[in-house]
Amino acid sequence: MKICAISFHCCPFSLLGGDGTGGMNVYLRELSSALTRYPEVKIDIFTRIQNPKIREIKYLSPQARVVHLRGGPERPMDRAKLYDFLPEFSRNLESFISQERESHDLVYSHYWLSGLVGEGIKQKFNLPLVHIYHTLAFLKERALRGKSREHNGRIEAERHLAHVSDALISSSEDEMQSLVDEYGISSSKGRIIYPGVNKKLFYRLEDGMVLREMRWKEKDRIILYVGRIDPAKGLMTVIEALELLKKKNLLLYNQLKLIVVGGGRKKEDLPGNKEYIRIKKSIREKKLTGKVIFLGSKKQSELKKYYSSAEALVMPSLYESFGLVPVEAMACGTPALVSRIGEMRYLVQEGKNGFSFPPKNASSLASCLEHLFSNKESLWDKERIRQSVVKNFSWEKTAEETYSLFRKLRREKTALTTISPPDESLQPV
Ligand code: UDP
Repeated sequence: MKICAISFHCCPFSLLGGDGTGGMNVYLRELSSALTRYPEVKIDIFTRIQNPKIREIKYLSPQARVVHLRGGPERPMDRAKLYDFLPEFSRNLESFISQERESHDLVYSHYWLSGLVGEGIKQKFNLPLVHIYHTLAFLKERALRGKSREHNGRIEAERHLAHVSDALISSSEDEMQSLVDEYGISSSKGRIIYPGVNKKLFYRLEDGMVLREMRWKEKDRIILYVGRIDPAKGLMTVIEALELLKKKNLLLYNQLKLIVVGGGRKKEDLPGNKEYIRIKKSIREKKLTGKVIFLGSKKQSELKKYYSSAEALVMPSLYESFGLVPVEAMACGTPALVSRIGEMRYLVQEGKNGFSFPPKNASSLASCLEHLFSNKESLWDKERIRQSVVKNFSWEKTAEETYSLFRKLRREKTALTTISPPDESLQPV
């Protein structure tokens, strides 16, 4: 089966760490890698050129390639401004496909912009379209109470995609239910498929060694945040919780350090990030300077050091469909404090692998922190925390469920075989 995957706005194989790169990149990268375990699968990932030096076709393996096509200026751009360049990208994609010797069997689009491109390809070449939203604008707007700055055509386009797609994949039960309730799709069109976690990338390192390497003090008690710096991610709630702890539990407050990983390059991207500017201002006003350290984005391969050295990972999102970061932290044996939304609600077993709190509720988060740090170390069984996620989530499982949906749409009935996975995941281009 030859799959036409569309990831218009970002190349999943460019190095992670930019401001607009996050869960979707990881999803497509890991899934493509796991899909190539099926010998008959070929996957083309079409993306816009955003770096003049990275263009045309890059082979990731004999079965997978990334095809860079022109679609707007050849530089990274704000997603909300990319809509105008869809026609150019679509034209280039159509002409590329027309010249291929072997035709594609299925279109697999990621995020609403790619969904619109995918719809055109579906019609032109008469192919089934499988779409995955990653986030839904109407749910995000609701969570942010109208403060999200989305393209004004996005909500309507997402509704339209719900109807024209042949199948919809979601990583979250709530999100799927919303598609049924709000957009009236039949539940047989939707499929909930959970993302995985890469066990070879996320495992525990010895804490002391990591702390020394980071030059953090042994007595520091580290709370870690990993992710994009965006209002929907709720980092401000952690700042407010620290302020509360300063008033009510000075002893604990004095030991804590909040490490923030993400938001793009520290010097080049962070200073221009509006949410970062807002948070820094609040840190100054609340006199928390020195308590919060922003490191900028790190390569995924480095993250286990941060996860292993933290006593808790915090994921305070206002809106999240799945949340890869707490799963990665848990795979490293670190408990997670997560807001009680989306799939994160089911991920946390209270007191066993973390705690949950209502989104935006700083006082509840402060209590969770007190509770967590008052628990004796031995109560947090690190191997048990790791097992709570690695036994449930794997990219091989995600690929198996995704591929069986693709086969169903193509009415393929032959027996399924896999080849052993490659030693390494597909590497960045
Ligand atoms: N990530 C990374 N480096 C960073 C920050 C994040 O590699 O500096 C990765 C992280 O490992 C995770 C993904 O980006 O796999 C973020 O996914 P998540 O689902 O938590 O958030 P999203 O970006 O989808 O909102």
